[in-house]
Amino acid sequence: MSIAGNVGLGDLPRICPLISRRVQSSGDAGETRVVAVGPVRFGDVRPVVIAGPCAVESFEQTLAVARAVKAAGAEMLRGGAFKPRTSPHDFQGLGLEGLKILREVRRETGLPIVTEVMDTRLVETVSEYADMLQIGSRNMQNYPLLIEAGKSGKPVLLKRGMAASLCEWLGAAEYVAKEGNLDIVLCERGIKAYPSGEYSRNVLDLNVIPAVKEETFLPIIVDPSHATGVASMVETASCAAIEFGCHGLIIEVACDYPGAVKPRCDAAQAINPATLENIIGFIDARMERKVLRKAHAV
Ligand code: PEP
Ligand code: MN
Repeated sequence: MSIAGNVGLGDLPRICPLISRRVQSSGDAGETRVVAVGPVRFGDVRPVVIAGPCAVESFEQTLAVARAVKAAGAEMLRGGAFKPRTSPHDFQGLGLEGLKILREVRRETGLPIVTEVMDTRLVETVSEYADMLQIGSRNMQNYPLLIEAGKSGKPVLLKRGMAASLCEWLGAAEYVAKEGNLDIVLCERGIKAYPSGEYSRNVLDLNVIPAVKEETFLPIIVDPSHATGVASMVETASCAAIEFGCHGLIIEVACDYPGAVKPRCDAAQAINPATLENIIGFIDARMERKVLRKAHAV
């Protein structure tokens, strides 16, 4: 007896032919599509680091964090203007004002911006301000939203649903691809599993990195902040994800600035700029080792 809706990896060529490495002959083993966001290249040799606050809370805060992450070596800025919060009574983000702050901070720092869009009605507006649209974990299977994001023509950062299988995740990416938009970067951000919430927020599924690379040519990055929920775990999780072969990281950072207040969102998982510098130093050292190994082999 087969169970309706029960799919496995063998179904991927049917579910997502446009992004399947097995279907697309261009997707030779090992080859990744390079997704460009301005000068930033996901899927290229060097892993990309995106960093910034969980939420845009003020111009001063966003500019201070952006300057700090740029100085640490991050290539792109993150920051939510529209926040998906568990309680409707919690801070929901600054909305349009947040988008304007992000645009101003990009002008000041030159860092391209990724920010979340949660609503089909806002895809056009968010696209005017952002360099890359983020589809959050809670919206991974919001199919109308995926279609609109695909139509926008903007690069899309598609986070994995917190309980999504690989087939469901890649099926979601196919919705974006079907609109003619192959500029998709996948993001593992931790899944709900047995120990979730006891000593960490979610369970970081490192195994999915090689699995994704086997099934699709799209780049995959990791969010160690939401995966762990604990600032002291973020550096180790980042380095482990890099070792597993991901194409980048997206990390939440907080820093001091005149009149600084505790972040209103996800404060417990925000690392400081010095820790971000360590993580980027780890990537630097790994890249150097690679170059040395190559030189040795010639
Ligand atoms: C975020 O990155 O701001 C976020 C809310 O993450 P997720 O959708 O993975 O929970
Ligand atoms: Mn957050």
